[in-house]
Amino acid sequence: MYSEDDLLPLSGLQHLAYCPRQFALIHIEQVWAENRFTAEGQLMHRRVNEETHESRGDLHIAHAVRVRSLQYGLSGIADVVEFHRAAEGITLAGKAGRWLPFPVEYKRGKPKQGNMDEVQLCAQALCLEEMLGTGIPAGALFYGKTRRRKEIAFTDGLRTQTIQLAERMHALWSARQTPPAEFGPQCEQCSLMECCMPQHPSAIRTRRYLESIFTEDVP
Ligand code: SF4
Repeated sequence: MYSEDDLLPLSGLQHLAYCPRQFALIHIEQVWAENRFTAEGQLMHRRVNEETHESRGDLHIAHAVRVRSLQYGLSGIADVVEFHRAAEGITLAGKAGRWLPFPVEYKRGKPKQGNMDEVQLCAQALCLEEMLGTGIPAGALFYGKTRRRKEIAFTDGLRTQTIQLAERMHALWSARQTPPAEFGPQCEQCSLMECCMPQHPSAIRTRRYLESIFTEDVP
């Protein structure tokens, strides 16, 4: 179990899944550069992240819900948590019956190639499960570009991947180690491209040096 002081931001999981160096630059070295993609994403989240509640029949919607998990050492804000009236779930103050939580995360663009968005959503579900004491089988991602909502099942595989990333994030954080740059297709849209300089000769030299240390035969 982690203490409240040891919690790391949920957003770090997404950075880590995108590139471990990006996670370390943002969260350990506190470097932040904004490009068009991050600026538009933040604007969209500002619109969503206003704490409000609303009810529509068998649906109750909470915006900007603070979530945290002491088991996995995570904290953050869920854009939206819907509560659907169901046979199982939790009780809500002033409302009859049972309600099943269903987190919804808003994204600026369209579905990405990797499953970073699914990991972030799953981490929110793990936090909500711990906080509310109920299972959450699914949630959804809403993409601003396509105006489509994609339902995501929190499978055992996705849960394991999310938990392993959380453990790796805490290990990197504890070691305060920034991994060397690995130039790849993900660098093209990375907001830290200019300060990371993954193709700079010194970055390549550093990577080769570190690789040589870790691949040397032990006598
Ligand atoms: S530029 Fe590439 S290597 Fe550097 S942080 Fe971004 S994704 Fe990672």
